Amino acid sequence: MAERIDGRAIAAGLEDEVAEQVRALAARTGVTPGLAVVLVGRDPASEVYVAHKIKSCRKVGIRSFEHRLPENTTQDALLTLIARLNADPEVHGVLVQVPLPAHIDEGAVLDAIDPGKDVDGFHPVNVGRLSTGTGGLIPCTPLGVMKLIDTVIDDITGLDAVVIGKSNIVGKPIAMLLLEREATVTVTHIETKNLPDLCRKADIIVAAAGAPRLVKGWWVKPGAVIIDVGITRIPGENGKDRLVGDVAFDEVQHARAVTPVPGGVGPMTIACLLANTVQAAETALG
Ligand code: NAD
Repeated sequence: MAERIDGRAIAAGLEDEVAEQVRALAARTGVTPGLAVVLVGRDPASEVYVAHKIKSCRKVGIRSFEHRLPENTTQDALLTLIARLNADPEVHGVLVQVPLPAHIDEGAVLDAIDPGKDVDGFHPVNVGRLSTGTGGLIPCTPLGVMKLIDTVIDDITGLDAVVIGKSNIVGKPIAMLLLEREATVTVTHIETKNLPDLCRKADIIVAAAGAPRLVKGWWVKPGAVIIDVGITRIPGENGKDRLVGDVAFDEVQHARAVTPVPGGVGPMTIACLLANTVQAAETALG
């Protein structure tokens, strides 16, 4: 039976550590870390994410500043707000919830965030730092994936890792982090030939495709570690939606360890956002 990596418990442990860091920083500097969360429009999924982020800040003692703007907010107005948050000494992290309404250029907005406050790690400066291994703020989900891997593997040096998915916010940064730790990394995507064969050689599989139950039992070699980032909402019985991952969880019980969906990577993403906010505050305060 594969070990079920309990993302909820690991995230709770990380949140306790963050709460302790918040207390220590406040005791040392008199400053409480602050996160500004900007939401434009009323996308229901975004509303849920933002509410969750604000609640989690409260739990660990981070101040949160919520900025809810109407759907018809202009790009200029949003950029003006970001400039204000960049200059505000009480704000150490700035998060703009995506997707933004279609009339706003998402890239231009994310690029306007001060890289030192870019707690999502999406700014080109932080992307560059990650790919050169020179610090910076690391995107939350990829950071959470590495923390989960670290709970089951002592040393990933030289291991074969396959990352399924090459998005800028999930697949590519995960590949960079694995590479930085000297794993041998194969990054795959929708056009990849022989994905099952590549997976069968892997010691670590990180599935971030958004393709339900893509990774079958026969794709996985005994003893592999599997991190399932994928989340797809499908209609369940009794009319309620349910979340499914990219891995056929029941078929991979010969693996060494696997994350469930839900309860695996998801909780780590928010815990890492909190950790990034404290890191940004510590860097700003010196
Ligand atoms: P995306 O759509 O931007 O990228 C998906 C990637 O997977 C692409 O590179 C695509 O080529 C590849 N892909 C798609 N289908 C494939 C297939 N059948 N075989 C091989 N490769 C395939 O998505 P994203 O933003 O990177 O997110 C990926 C998944 O992770 C989604 O399910 C998303 O909901 C989930 N996600 C979870 C968290 C979390 O906190 N747990 C955070 C972010 C994203």
